[in-house]
Amino acid sequence: MSINRQQRCWAEIDLAAFERNLKGIQAALPAKMRYVAVVKADAYGHGMPQIVRRLMQSGVDAFAVANIKEAADIRHMGVGWPILILSPVLPEEAARLIEDDLTPTISTQAEANWLNELARQKRAQLKVHLKIDTGMGRLGVWHEQATELLHTIQQLPHLKLEGIYTHFSSADSEPSFTRLQRERLLRVLETIPKEGLLIHADNSASLRSLSGTNPFNAVRIGLLQFGVPPYPQSALGHVPVEPVFSFYTRVGLIKDLPAATDISYGRTHQLARDSRIAVLTAGYADGIPLALSNTGAVLIHGQRCPILGRVTMDQTIVDITPLVNVEPGETAVLIGSSGAEEITVTEFSQTAGSIPWESLCSITKRVTRVYVGSREI
Ligand SMILES: *Cc1c(COP(=O)(O)O)cnc(C)c1O
Repeated sequence: MSINRQQRCWAEIDLAAFERNLKGIQAALPAKMRYVAVVKADAYGHGMPQIVRRLMQSGVDAFAVANIKEAADIRHMGVGWPILILSPVLPEEAARLIEDDLTPTISTQAEANWLNELARQKRAQLKVHLKIDTGMGRLGVWHEQATELLHTIQQLPHLKLEGIYTHFSSADSEPSFTRLQRERLLRVLETIPKEGLLIHADNSASLRSLSGTNPFNAVRIGLLQFGVPPYPQSALGHVPVEPVFSFYTRVGLIKDLPAATDISYGRTHQLARDSRIAVLTAGYADGIPLALSNTGAVLIHGQRCPILGRVTMDQTIVDITPLVNVEPGETAVLIGSSGAEEITVTEFSQTAGSIPWESLCSITKRVTRVYVGSREI
């Protein structure tokens, strides 16, 4: 491992693995299915520009992000790519929609009206997607009122309806509810002309239930691109993906302590035996969850070393008693492999009582992202 990768705490993003995942996902999609790449939250913590560049090269059809700022960052990397904004747009943000040719999501009559008015004032036409709430209870017009809102949008001269979508609440846990959500959307779609519209519902977790025989012609994929299967026990079947993200820190200090010594804030651990501990140079300010206190582990020399006591802001204490010849400066793996052992993003987040989406976007700015596996362009 070259020196420049080794910092106090860093993440490695394997762009070659990412590119292979994109090929795998594209090959698994039914023919003519459009690929909307979801890259919100700095591409799930992987770094927006590097990830978006690869997605542009791999031929995805559109991008989806949470907000105007993220959308503008993509727009500056390439004109012409459709960019869908998934979250509601605030009034003071709206001018950017037209300047940067961005596509907002409409959930209410009020949004349709003020966005139309904004576009009228700018003498522009704003492309929009209509979102339908089929059971998520968050954004979108309730499915029973969707046709009415759709007609409103079609009558507003400064709005151009380009897509209709819904979001599944339980695609990773409740196939029957996902089917109900899909049927609710299909029922709305039966009542309207669909020509030229992008119709999308599926995310990473529902891809396996996707077939080419319905009106859906696009998918929105986030997590899966990064090689993290959205199921507890990966059962993706036909979509092969491999890990992209790994997370490392270093051994800062090693010391021997007698049995019964108290460890960390709140004396949250007591040594059961004479022990050798390593103090790692990362803590919760780097994105090691506090919830890993006394439950998580890191890999050193291919061995699992349990976290002792509370994770602190800048340091984490681990037990290295069984290991021989560990030296200060050596690498400890938080996510990734060492010898025959591996800690996946899924395991890391499950041990912390979290979900992979949250874990990935909780790795903080202090952690340098190092790009490997593909030439930087
Ligand atoms: C984040 C998000 C996605 C992507 O979900 P993944 O599970 O990461 O594939 C899709 N649609 C919407 C509306 C989202 O907010």
